[in-house]
Amino acid sequence: MRLIVLGPPGAGKGTQSQRLMQKYGIPQLSTGDMLRAAAAADTPVGRKAKALMDTGSLVPDEVVVGIIADRISQADAAKGFILDGFPRTVNQAKALDDMLAAKKLKLDGVIELKVDEGALLGRIEKRAKEMIAKGCAVRADDNPEAFKTRLEAYREMTAPVAAYYAADGRLKTVDGMAPIEVVSAAIDRVTEAAGSAV
Ligand code: AMP
Repeated sequence: MRLIVLGPPGAGKGTQSQRLMQKYGIPQLSTGDMLRAAAAADTPVGRKAKALMDTGSLVPDEVVVGIIADRISQADAAKGFILDGFPRTVNQAKALDDMLAAKKLKLDGVIELKVDEGALLGRIEKRAKEMIAKGCAVRADDNPEAFKTRLEAYREMTAPVAAYYAADGRLKTVDGMAPIEVVSAAIDRVTEAAGSAV
């Protein structure tokens, strides 16, 4: 099962991707997590990415496309994967299509979590508070200024990705404002339909 979970910051992509990872036993590939790990390890890529990530701007396509190309070639991704936070631009989506075509693989589903923009900042603030309560570090970009830039990047660069997949009928939209169990059930209907079609 090869899935993409699309949606603005705070839509619930991470929560749903982690659930799908357990359900299907396939890795969740979050470019945000990979870039944060690279930044924490102070690698050259991580250093370059960190400054952009902290302000909420996107990291260049070639960087994330390279990361994903390496990652989907690893053994644990052979049975499938859930992409969380990638692709974020139409160029990345096209590069992914090319990568998969070269491996004779196809996507089983592209799931978009649709969420009212007005609810997103509140969700990000809630996430920051939950991290503090757990004694964990708050993401450097979970603050109102970086959030504004992240939302702008989403509107300008990532909303067209949903349109790219909608154009050839691959996009399935789920109401991300519903309670988590309802969102989960709606996603499961999409993945189960995709699973029975392959
Ligand atoms: P996320 O954890 O998905 O919210 O990503 C956090 C940050 O990492 C984003 O605001 C970007 O700076 C960067 N990032 C993650 N994935 C991508 C991507 N596919 N393309 C460009 N930048 C990305």
